[in-house]
Amino acid sequence: MRTPNPTARKSSLTRFQQRTRRIRHVKGARHLTQLAVAVLIVVAAVRHQVEQDSGAASVDALCPFGAMETLLTWLTSGALITKIHPSNLVLGLAVLVATLLVGNAFCGWICPFGAVQDALTWVRGKLHLPALPVPRGLDRVLRWGRFVVLAVILYFSYTTATLWFADYDPYVALFGLHWLFEPDNSTIWIGLSILAAVVAASLLVERAWCRYLCPLGGVLSVLGRFSLFRIRRAPTTCTDCSLCDKACPVGIEPSKAAPMVSPDCIGCMDCVTTCPVRGALAVDAPVLLGTPIRLGSGSEAEKR
Ligand code: SF4
Ligand code: SF4
Repeated sequence: MRTPNPTARKSSLTRFQQRTRRIRHVKGARHLTQLAVAVLIVVAAVRHQVEQDSGAASVDALCPFGAMETLLTWLTSGALITKIHPSNLVLGLAVLVATLLVGNAFCGWICPFGAVQDALTWVRGKLHLPALPVPRGLDRVLRWGRFVVLAVILYFSYTTATLWFADYDPYVALFGLHWLFEPDNSTIWIGLSILAAVVAASLLVERAWCRYLCPLGGVLSVLGRFSLFRIRRAPTTCTDCSLCDKACPVGIEPSKAAPMVSPDCIGCMDCVTTCPVRGALAVDAPVLLGTPIRLGSGSEAEKR
């Protein structure tokens, strides 16, 4: 009996089939990673709630943003934020190093709150709800919202020497599971109300929280400018078909990248896998290598 030749089978696929398969594989890997992290966070939250004396980390301690609040308070006042957990600082450092290497992939592949927003986009699709278009100029202005939120949080964390944002953070409101274990706690309603608003906004605008309000996303977008690997567009190869723009979950226009995509990119790779032209979009390490590393931007069969 003859063994099927995978190469022959691959070349018999149409360009469209190859692209669809590529998109499915990368999206699948990303969503699996997001799901695994979200499950870990939920398990940690349950342990923290059930085994109160075990010292299990709370979800605040499992958010790398807490590390920033801690560091600022420590640098400016010499005091450490109360109830801080070492994992918070370790995570913060790990995310910092990862961002300097591969850009803001934390938001696209790891953050469980990003995963929730991706799930809301999926729900919107299932409900056939139209996405709310945000004009480019307004989008640019609204993105500054992340830095306004960041400034407010850092100010109050510094002046109160607490994880001030925890009561307002929609991530904590959802994954902290206080709504399940302490429904009588009156303070949880602030976070839950903000969470409800974010859910509503994310049903209308894909990843609305990440784009306009997330303070960690703001910090990572600044650091992302210096990352080793970034997505690069080859203007001479690109056909300006705009398929990549339609694929981008955070409203970036990779088709206009000149040549690096915006540092607001969350590294989801949807544009690279969607692009039908080989080499038009690629992950590049401009500083060290000078040559792009081809990761899924068109197959040989699609080469023009
Ligand atoms: S630019 Fe590409 S990789 Fe970055 S967020 Fe948009 S689709 Fe994802
Ligand atoms: S999908 Fe590819 S070819 Fe089309 S505009 Fe984007 S980078 Fe250019």
